[in-house]
Amino acid sequence: MGLANSVQTLHNGVKIPSVGLGVYKIEGNGVYDAVKSAIDLGYRHIDTASFYENEEGVGRAVKDSGVEREELFITTKVWNDQQGYENTMEAFDLSLNKLGLDYVDLYLVHWPVPGKYKETWKALEDIYRSGKAKAIGVSNFLPHHLEDLLKSAEIKPMANQIELHPQLSQLETREYCKKHDIIVEAWAPLGKASYFDHPVLQQLSEKHGKTPAQIIVRWDYQHGIVTIPKSTKAERQKENADIFDFELSGEDMELIDGMNEDKRIGAHPDKFNY
Ligand code: NDP
Repeated sequence: MGLANSVQTLHNGVKIPSVGLGVYKIEGNGVYDAVKSAIDLGYRHIDTASFYENEEGVGRAVKDSGVEREELFITTKVWNDQQGYENTMEAFDLSLNKLGLDYVDLYLVHWPVPGKYKETWKALEDIYRSGKAKAIGVSNFLPHHLEDLLKSAEIKPMANQIELHPQLSQLETREYCKKHDIIVEAWAPLGKASYFDHPVLQQLSEKHGKTPAQIIVRWDYQHGIVTIPKSTKAERQKENADIFDFELSGEDMELIDGMNEDKRIGAHPDKFNY
């Protein structure tokens, strides 16, 4: 098992690689280099967004990588000020143009903008039907947003990308998604590298001879959570993906589960300044 063949299956049968590269706000040529090195290392899943303003660089790196398009999984997202039916249709075309691709593998509603996300979802359904997005989903949706969306949705979201790391384990949303066959993706999976010195991570790091980042990525993997750690550095990209040669025990998993403090780094979806 490795980066290329470790996948989860979305409810429409599309396969999503379990570990991908996040490229949040990597600017300028940096994104080209980061994506290029990740693909060279074996990454097949790249997570961008129109908001990151780096879709062109992602697209160029994908093109120059020499890897067949069908082997890659590219996600982008519609930003908050692009929501609503018509705006989303336009935003999608813009993203596709910037990426220089014929289709994306996953298109997400970035945040549940109140009063807008249902219309936005109708656009995503039409984009999905057109074949230009192989899968569609949401991001930062709490169970109440999903509940509301499912009342009118004709196509159920295939994924929900949420802030998720050991100090914010998101049990409630994970359980809701599991019940509805929606794959959970973790953003800021490393907690933005802000608490690698936590005693539990240090203890397990020592036990397994792995870094705290690897312990966390492995925890995601064993929970069936798709994870997209970001790094601009090839060495760290390699480290973050090198998680297929060890296993956390049930007890190890419980120790990490026990780190939860419901502590967010980013905004709460109900308190976001939309
Ligand atoms: P992460 O938890 O992935 O942490 C990234 C930070 O950790 C960077 O500062 C990086 O620095 C550092 N880092 C990475 N690997 C290591 C390592 N092995 N050792 C030490 N430090 C390391 O945070 P992100 O916010 O970037 O989240 C990941 C991805 O999730 C984003 O890139 C984006 O694609 C997505 N996202 C989605 C959101 C949404 O609303 N849907 C919101 C935010 C993010 P360096 O680059 O210098 O290595």
